[in-house]
Amino acid sequence: MEIRSSYDVIVVGAGIAGISAAVKAGRSGARVLLVEQYGFVGGMSTAGMVSPFMKHAVQGEVLVRGVFEDIEREMRAQNGMIDNGFYAHAFRSASYHLLTEAGCTMLLHAVIAGVHRTDERVDSITVFVAGRTLTISASVFIDTSGDAQLLFLAGLPWAKGDEATGKLQALTLFFRMGNIDLQRVTDYAAANRKEFFDWMDTSFDLTKIVSVAGYFSIVKKAIAEGRLSPDVQYIFFTTLPGSGEGSFNTSNILALDGSTSPDLTRAELTGRKQVHQVVTLLKNEVPGFERSYLIETAPQVGVRETRRAVGDYAVTGEDIKRGRKFDDSIARGCYGIDIHGQKDEESRMEHLPEGDYYEIPLRALLVKEAVNVLVAGRCISSTREGHSALRIQPTSAATGEACGALAALAVRKDLPLRSVDVRSVQELIAHNITQR
Ligand SMILES: Cc1cc2nc3c(=O)[nH]c(=O)nc-3n(C[C@H](O)[C@H](O)[C@H](O)COP(=O)(O)OP(=O)(O)OC[C@H]3O[C@@H](n4cnc5c(N)ncnc54)[C@H](O)[C@@H]3O)c2cc1C
Repeated sequence: MEIRSSYDVIVVGAGIAGISAAVKAGRSGARVLLVEQYGFVGGMSTAGMVSPFMKHAVQGEVLVRGVFEDIEREMRAQNGMIDNGFYAHAFRSASYHLLTEAGCTMLLHAVIAGVHRTDERVDSITVFVAGRTLTISASVFIDTSGDAQLLFLAGLPWAKGDEATGKLQALTLFFRMGNIDLQRVTDYAAANRKEFFDWMDTSFDLTKIVSVAGYFSIVKKAIAEGRLSPDVQYIFFTTLPGSGEGSFNTSNILALDGSTSPDLTRAELTGRKQVHQVVTLLKNEVPGFERSYLIETAPQVGVRETRRAVGDYAVTGEDIKRGRKFDDSIARGCYGIDIHGQKDEESRMEHLPEGDYYEIPLRALLVKEAVNVLVAGRCISSTREGHSALRIQPTSAATGEACGALAALAVRKDLPLRSVDVRSVQELIAHNITQR
């Protein structure tokens, strides 16, 4: 495969935001290079094994369509989805198909290690590929690295963590188990309601995705007896397409920064230790798990929050809670503030009133002090509270798709990003915005 020295659009990071950006830009006629440090695409959706997709519909209206729905459709065709729950392998192959169809060039096993700029314009990036470096230029760069790596390396403005305390959200290593007796699990949950979260729906239908969250007394006892890390607060899993399979969002790794290698290394080790403890506990003490087994742990620990861009507009917690609408809307969401707390920090989950949604302005994709750089997904310009709502997969896909549309229009019209007419971007992503 030939890698050219120049592209219209370079997308850094192939998580759901980067995939959506690349597919949209490719479909809109741009020559796109998607650079990814791992040997596979998907980011948190695959390397982190995060499933399911969080809520993205209000009163029956789906807020995120476009590339996101194409990924879903491809995964369903492979029997890789049950409702909003999915397999990482299905996500990968769906993405490869869409990226190839859109004519995007993928450069995997490639870590960006340098960014070269002249004043406010990024000219090129340097990428480490199998022991050598490549320098590749583009008209527009999209940072969907999750950690705002391009901004960081370019010396462009970013923020990290809580504005007052600097705290970052907890990390979680996902894992999958098989051969769970779901009938027994759900019978137990329905009969022991107080042992589970209030929000858990006990009208279980085993033909659909099932969520189980709690086991408070069992967890408490195991912690008191030293069999479980005190950082694990509850057991939470959702089911997957395969019969008796569950995806566990349960480990809870505190006081580490997911944008540094030493902390990530500690998190990988701590996460695996917690998973071993949880699996042992489930098999020995939890009804329905007697004959279950660990299928796999995620290739990498799940990172909720690191750096985010400082852009022309920062989406705030108030924007989320009040369901704020913007004239330059490029995406919508209905997921509320969701901060997984740290040591000495309460977790927060604040939902929007049922039926309400917020819009995300195009200005939150534009990076201050840069004329040709966009951000999407976890890197979007926001406050910590805003970020905690916008980071979910469907919204990351929608902001990524908007970046792809804007980048392709800027290239086609030979205009700076800020001179592209907002309405022409909105036309390209009409399926993701409310028509006025
Ligand atoms: C534990 C956990 C639970 C979650 N639960 C849910 C949930 O239930 N539902 C939901 O919808 N969302 C959930 N989320 C949120 C969601 O998974 C992520 O926020 C979202 O997937 C982020 O997508 P992204 O594309 O912005 O970033 P990422 O998925 O992080 O992708 C970034 C990509 O950039 C690559 N990259 C980074 N640096 C470089 C570099 N220097 N060079 C090249 N490539 C690089 C990475 O390898 C990665 O592939 C959860 C997240 C976590 C961590």
